[in-house]
Order: sequence, then C-alpha cells, then structure tokens
Amino acid sequence: MGLEAGKISNLLVMGKSGAGKQPRIDVLVREFDLDQLSTGDLFRTYLKKFEEVDFEGDLSSFYDEETDSFVSDEEILWSLGPVAKWDDPQGVVLGLKAKYFVESGKFVPDSITNEMFGTVFKSKECRGWVLDGYPRTVAQTENLLNLVVESGSNIDAVLIVEGDDDEIVARTTGRRICPNCKKVYHIEFKPPSKEGNCTHCGTPVIRRSDDSEEKIRSRLEEFHTKTELSIKFLEHQGIPIVKVPGNLSEYSREIVRKSVMDAFDAI
Ligand SMILES: [Zn+2]
Repeated sequence: MGLEAGKISNLLVMGKSGAGKQPRIDVLVREFDLDQLSTGDLFRTYLKKFEEVDFEGDLSSFYDEETDSFVSDEEILWSLGPVAKWDDPQGVVLGLKAKYFVESGKFVPDSITNEMFGTVFKSKECRGWVLDGYPRTVAQTENLLNLVVESGSNIDAVLIVEGDDDEIVARTTGRRICPNCKKVYHIEFKPPSKEGNCTHCGTPVIRRSDDSEEKIRSRLEEFHTKTELSIKFLEHQGIPIVKVPGNLSEYSREIVRKSVMDAFDAI
C-alpha cells in the first residue's frame, strides 16, 4: 500500500504555525519529486512586484472604507504610472492590495489570497505541489478544490503535523534569529554564544516580532477557529488525512523521513 511516487499530484501539509511543518515538507518534496508552494513565499513574491513600482503615495487612497472595497484596477494602474513598463500589471495591483492589508495590520481577505494562489498554482510546469499554509479557511479550501478540478489534477493526501498549543508557545518564544545571516537559534535547544551573539557571524541575535507570545496565541486561535474547519471539509471530500507528531523524542533527518513515510504507508 501507500502512495506511489510517480502518481502523486498534490499534497497538503497542515498544522499550527510553529508545529514543525518544514522538515516534513522537505521529506515530501524529495520523496515525491514535488515543488513547495507556501503562502509566505506567495506574499513575498507579490509584495515585491508592487514594491518594484516605487510608489510613494498613500495606499489607503485606493480603498473606500465605506463600501469596504478598492477602487477599480484600472484606476489603481492609472495612478501608479506607466503600466506598459511592467510585465505583470495584474500582479502589481494584487501586490498593492495585499500590502494595504498587511500594512494596516488587517487580515488579508480570502479573495486576494485566492487570486494570488490561483495564479501561481496554475502557472508552473511542475509535477505537482506540496502546499504549505494554504488552505487556511473554508473559502480557500473551496477555491483549491475548484482549481484542482480545473487543472485536472488531484489532492492525494493531507499530512497534519500535530503539536500541543502550550508546547508550541514555549518552543516559539525561545526562537532567536541572526538579523545579519538569518541563522536560527533557540535559547534552550540551539543557543547562540554566551553573549547572545550569532556563532556564525557574531551579530547579536534577536527575537522576531512574530514570535511574541501574543502573536503566537493569535495564530493558534486562527488555526482553531478557521483551519480546523477546512480540515474537516477536506475530510468530507474523502481526501485521506494522515497525522504525524511535530515533536519527536529523537530528531534526525532519517527519523523525520521515516515518521512521514510510515504515516503515508497507512493510506
Ligand atoms: Zn549571523
């Protein structure tokens, strides 16, 4: 039994932020010859498209709080300048919209995330994707299922990386990063030097603002209220769901690989 490597088209990796999804994603990318598509990269890509335009004005001028909507895309493009110079004007507009929400500290609406996701999901000529951070809501799940039907592909399975809320908070608040070389540390498990400097380049390590307890708890809440529903929704569609523990008593590349592949063998 198990999944046959050559026949897999798309796999989903879901779990709370901080549960340890990346090492599992790495396994799936290697074992099944897929590419990773993560919402983090997606946002960075689109924000960059907009930032390259060098617009200095106020983004809220494109948003009408009363009707809760943006002015038309044509109007946005006209205000931004010489459209002809950009190879992806629609991407620039999407990047602007995403940036507006990110900057004002609001949740980016599903419609915008869905549009960015759909464009990238359909664009690339790869065997298939390991999706990371998408879908997070029921609306995103519906969008994904439509895209899969349109593209004649499939979602073969969902891998859930499990983790206890309090353990995740404890682990994530201890995380430190070198602002210079981006090496990641942990005050308990992988400490920087005694003075709190990066052992690689000597720069003092910092805690990212995203790793504060308040931010972590709010991401966990988001998972419980929205993402858990989308997992149920996927389950109702008959998509196989397998679970692996995010926290292993012993940790090596081979142990992580075996934990993931054994879970898939059960399908
Ligand atoms: Zn460093």
